[in-house]
Amino acid sequence: MEMPSDVPRYVIALGSNRPGRHGRPGAELAAALGAIGGVRAASRVVTSAPIGPSIRRFANQVAMIESEERPLDLLARLKAIEAAFGRRPGQRWGSRVIDLDILLWSKGVWADRRLTVPHVAFRDRRFVLDPLRMIAPDWRDPVTGLTIRQLHYRACAVDRMPRPS
Ligand code: ATP
Ligand code: MG
Ligand code: MG
Repeated sequence: MEMPSDVPRYVIALGSNRPGRHGRPGAELAAALGAIGGVRAASRVVTSAPIGPSIRRFANQVAMIESEERPLDLLARLKAIEAAFGRRPGQRWGSRVIDLDILLWSKGVWADRRLTVPHVAFRDRRFVLDPLRMIAPDWRDPVTGLTIRQLHYRACAVDRMPRPS
């Protein structure tokens, strides 16, 4: 029988909505997974309409990795990968070759000026929760105490509510 791993895990959200040197957004996601390393599970790639000023559709994916890194060290490494992939600093939510966000950490929460884990917006984002539910439905959000399955269900219910006019 396989022993359960006690190596800490992170869940990373990947997003891309412009081609880079690896090719189209889907190819950028695959290349980023290789650069990050330690991948234990990865969702399918989902596509979503852009939020904010960008007009290009996004390709999104989430992945679970094993890593002993401290949160700020992982953040620095992810930012270095973003830069190496040709992401230009600039508009938040603008077109980007790659966006790598830390969603969750098996050791719990982290909050300072540079980094908040769990990611502050992940509970409201279908493009994160849909793929996250594929790979980690039973992971419990340490802030709300809800599982990913519950957060996903809630987000779907919100999307079904009639909009105030
Ligand atoms: P959003 O955070 O809404 O998804 P974004 O990913 O486009 O927007 P970025 O420009 O990639 O935003 O990052 C802005 C800053 O957010 C980063 O410089 C980083 O210091 C900070 N940050 C805070 N929490 C996180 C997190 N959990 N993962 C990644 N970056 C984070
Ligand atoms: Mg982001
Ligand atoms: Mg980001």
